[in-house]
Amino acid sequence: MAGTRFPLEVQPRIPPALSRLADVANDLVYSWDRSLRALYVRLDRELWAECGHNPKLFLRRLPQQRLDEAASDPSYLEDYRKVMAAYDAYREHRGNPDMTRIFNPDKDLIAYFCLEFGLHESFPIYSGGLGILAGDHCKAASDLGLPFVAVGLLYQAGYFTQIIDGQGHQQVANTPSHPHDLPVVPTLTETGHQLTLDIEFPGRTLKVAVWTARAGHIDLYLLDTNLPGNSEADRRITHQLYGGDREMRLQQELVLGIGGVRALREMGLRPTVWHINEGHAAFQLLERCAYRMKEGLDFASAMELVAAGTVFTTHTPVPAGHDIFDRHLVERYLMPTAHALGLDFEQLYALGLNSGDGFNMTSLALRCTRFHNGVSRIHGNVASQMEQRLWPQVPAEENPIGHVTNGVHLQTFLARDWISLFDLRLDDWRNELLNEDYWERLEDVPDYHYWSIHKALKAELLEHVADSVKRQQRRNGTSDAVIRHMTRYLEDSDADILVMGFARRFATYKRAGMLFADPQRLARLLGDPQRPAVVIFAGKAHPNDQPGQALIKQIHDFSMQPQFIGRIILLEGYDLALARQLVAGVDVWLNTPEYPQEASGTSGQKAGLNGAVNLSVLDGWWAEGYDGSNGWGITPRGEQFDEHQRFHEEARDLMDILEHQVIPTYYDRDGGGYAPDWVALSKASMKSTIPRFNAQRMVRDYVHQYYAPARSQRLRLEADGAALARELAAWKQRVREAWPGVSMQLTVQPPAVIYTDAKLMLRVRAQLQGLDPGDVRLECLLGRQDTSGGFSVEQAVQLIPLGEEEGWQLFGLDADPQLAGLQYYQLRMYPFNPALSHPFEVGAMIWV
Ligand SMILES: *Cc1c(COP(=O)(O)O)cnc(C)c1O
Repeated sequence: MAGTRFPLEVQPRIPPALSRLADVANDLVYSWDRSLRALYVRLDRELWAECGHNPKLFLRRLPQQRLDEAASDPSYLEDYRKVMAAYDAYREHRGNPDMTRIFNPDKDLIAYFCLEFGLHESFPIYSGGLGILAGDHCKAASDLGLPFVAVGLLYQAGYFTQIIDGQGHQQVANTPSHPHDLPVVPTLTETGHQLTLDIEFPGRTLKVAVWTARAGHIDLYLLDTNLPGNSEADRRITHQLYGGDREMRLQQELVLGIGGVRALREMGLRPTVWHINEGHAAFQLLERCAYRMKEGLDFASAMELVAAGTVFTTHTPVPAGHDIFDRHLVERYLMPTAHALGLDFEQLYALGLNSGDGFNMTSLALRCTRFHNGVSRIHGNVASQMEQRLWPQVPAEENPIGHVTNGVHLQTFLARDWISLFDLRLDDWRNELLNEDYWERLEDVPDYHYWSIHKALKAELLEHVADSVKRQQRRNGTSDAVIRHMTRYLEDSDADILVMGFARRFATYKRAGMLFADPQRLARLLGDPQRPAVVIFAGKAHPNDQPGQALIKQIHDFSMQPQFIGRIILLEGYDLALARQLVAGVDVWLNTPEYPQEASGTSGQKAGLNGAVNLSVLDGWWAEGYDGSNGWGITPRGEQFDEHQRFHEEARDLMDILEHQVIPTYYDRDGGGYAPDWVALSKASMKSTIPRFNAQRMVRDYVHQYYAPARSQRLRLEADGAALARELAAWKQRVREAWPGVSMQLTVQPPAVIYTDAKLMLRVRAQLQGLDPGDVRLECLLGRQDTSGGFSVEQAVQLIPLGEEEGWQLFGLDADPQLAGLQYYQLRMYPFNPALSHPFEVGAMIWV
């Protein structure tokens, strides 16, 4: 056929009785409220799928007749009214009092910055774990009624769509969408125009437009450079997430950091706490300092004030994962910022210095914020070690990096059937999300009932997987006979076979190939005719990650071998929709990261809350979640093994657990057609995951441990024309100059053996190089030697200044510390000021 094909979209008119379907399409509440989504799905299931579960697109393409029928269908209208009433009740909810007491919606505002947000598959401005975590954080903030806004970028081409071809190669497709198709509206100024701002770029002014996405009670502001006033190249800055080169990444981060702060300011918003989620957003710190300087502060005082009110979360346990920019790029783009801060380039560049070359965004964020955390207990420790040079004299375990373990948004990931069960059997469960005792009530659900729900969800998953396999394989030219072979276990849902899932980004540290370390053994286990099992794989590899793509190909190749065909399934296009399906339908969720590189991992939490049983390396969240009764843990091998040995040792554990525990327990069925021990495991998984690893718990932890302290600290430093901020900046300057010459000596020491009623007496003299005794703290740490030869501190007692003698400052201790047995003590001195956010913030410390 010749000639041009012109598009013509024929839109229906929404009947007045259903007018709110259009409003709700612009509120991302639909990303977690399944009843709301059901109102759309019911109208045309196929079209819903075709439109990528996008309500806005769907409503534009729906045949008029469908809408008219629904508008006169009493049962549809009845549901519509119920769902809308529940939605209105949610919108009217004024927040949880225990949260709004801490953060008053009239006075406070938390501003959360991230380069990606994963709320729903219809809004593809995310790539994986980081974005989905950010999305879940927003959703929980809305549920809790926190005064909260988020800031990100509006990528019209999103991340990429993945195709896996017949050879197992990942193909990348991009399908840009117009803002029209996305749940965003222009952010309007008072004059009714879309808000735009300018950012100084080398030789030009970049124009940035602002869009608003609403998610219940919170707004997400998204910045967009695709404006006619910009050059073609500049219009593409916000085109794609993690696309482009280093320069484009720097441009994106400048738009987010600098543009984000300007946008909030233009809207008249004055956040009282700022949260930087991963280093990408750290340029906001510089922009905020520049504002403070306009109010008359010098750079150092402005920085103290900005840092005090900011929380920084790091997510990356591998040094290579950090964002680092070449000097020449930073020089090109940040000169105007250096100017505004009154710094020369070297001073600005020093803010991002780390051990290696380049400007490190994590280092910038850590230097210029006072509240920092990793995303699980293990990851908090890893981050403390990895970043210890920022507090060079402080032992890593004491430096100011803590942790908040990630959680996932329950309503988003909990399957509809479980929600219905809870609604039926558990009173008021939505208000008991954090109550571990409450969830014991799951034990009251009869096993047969519990299992019938899981079984139905599994059947739904397998049907979906079979359809996807067919679509994928037909496109790849696979013959029907082979496709039938591939889907033979999926189509027999009565068999209730064991189904395992492994889905996540194909990064090499996740070791997706571990299951295949001993292919013969795996083939024997999965292929047992009495006790068959299927493993479903899915995940994307970044287009530049060749080893990640090689893993995809490796799994593809295994999945086509005669011994594995139909038992190993590789699905393309992992996204939030597929993730929800998988976590709700599998029996076992597998994860095999290389310790300690799984910062947290969240997909196992999504699976656990749906009753899937985790089998995972004890890393990230699972090291905290595993309790011996709710799944299986693979103990990571220590450093005495090399990478190759660890892989094989842990792979053997994995196979042993599968062979001797997972498969026998799953198939040990009684007359009811299910295995009672398995149901016990599944219930244990669900009831231990829901209260501990949901996003409300996470956001509450942030509120109590990070947001509230950051807000108070900033208020303290800000009072009286920022008096304390100025004082603190000047004090740090003094300390930094004096510290290299500071020293101390022990002059009086107790004998090595004392009686229990004797006082512990110590005298120390110190050279303070002009610092006052009140500028330092001398501490005696008392404790014992632990079995591995380390020193475990039990008490820290302060020494008291005793005056000056012959140019020395004297300090002493006369304590009765209630000791017994063999003790050890150590003495240390560090600079101290009550205005500090953390006692070791300066990073200076000397020991006797
Ligand atoms: C939850 C999720 C992730 C993150 O999973 P991890 O287990 O943390 O790797 C990635 N992608 C999608 C689509 C998800 O839903």
